[in-house]
Amino acid sequence: MSLLSVRQVSKTYELRLGWSGKTQRISALQDVSLDIAAGSCLGVVGESGAGKSTLGRMVLGLEKPDCGEIWFQGQELGRIPSQALRAVRREIQVVFQDSFSAVNPRWKVRQIIGEPICNYLNKTAGEAAEQTIQLLETVGLTAADANKYPHQFSGGQLQRVTIARAIALRPKLVVLDEPVSSLDMTIQAQILDLLLDLKQQYQLSYLFITHDLAAVAYLADRFAVMHKGAIVESADSLDLSKLQHPYSQQLIAAQLPAHPRDRKSLIHSAKPR
Ligand code: ADP
Repeated sequence: MSLLSVRQVSKTYELRLGWSGKTQRISALQDVSLDIAAGSCLGVVGESGAGKSTLGRMVLGLEKPDCGEIWFQGQELGRIPSQALRAVRREIQVVFQDSFSAVNPRWKVRQIIGEPICNYLNKTAGEAAEQTIQLLETVGLTAADANKYPHQFSGGQLQRVTIARAIALRPKLVVLDEPVSSLDMTIQAQILDLLLDLKQQYQLSYLFITHDLAAVAYLADRFAVMHKGAIVESADSLDLSKLQHPYSQQLIAAQLPAHPRDRKSLIHSAKPR
């Protein structure tokens, strides 16, 4: 049984166009189905506007699908009574791209990480403080960082804080919504390595949303290519050369090669059929 099963989920937004009263319908998700096995990472890759974050919000329960179902650990999220939903929600956490917007700027790190531990795990303030320090060390920070405010960290360090908060409640699934996209290249690699380590250490499953094929190849076990709200291709193998769909090949062409001499062949090989 899959840990997460998204079944034929669709979502349409209606946008009001100025004062005319006219509306435009945007089909953000069309009949999307995917599965994530326990302990595995599914990369969902696609360009901006493909519907990736909308999918993430549905899985997190921040929005409801117009139709379709989302199953988590054998339960359909839409049918779980609200009292029970709180416990299920604890099992699905998120790391967003913009770590500065994801935290309260007036809170110290010990509150940012300690508050959910007190609230959800019913720990005392002392126990939460102890766990916070352990979590900070797990993500490569130090006990001294617990007394700092978000503005006292670099982007990469603050992303480590939000990762520590995400794993604090021992979730089963973490939605990673472009977690390294705003970081520079060396820091990206360090954060991807950290996510890989944590996946093994805590048997986590990831829904990894990104526009970056290289990051998908690095972190994901399986991947799905999303285009205009639909999944156009998915595969078990991370061999990108096996991608067949013309849009997938365009995505490959859009990635910068490691060396300029590779540029021509890459563009040539990515010609739509
Ligand atoms: P991605 O994460 O792949 O960049 P999104 O899921 O953010 O894509 O968006 C998919 C489409 O849905 C886009 O056309 C976007 O403008 C639209 N969209 C997303 N959220 C909303 C919303 N709350 N209201 C209206 N349109 C939205």
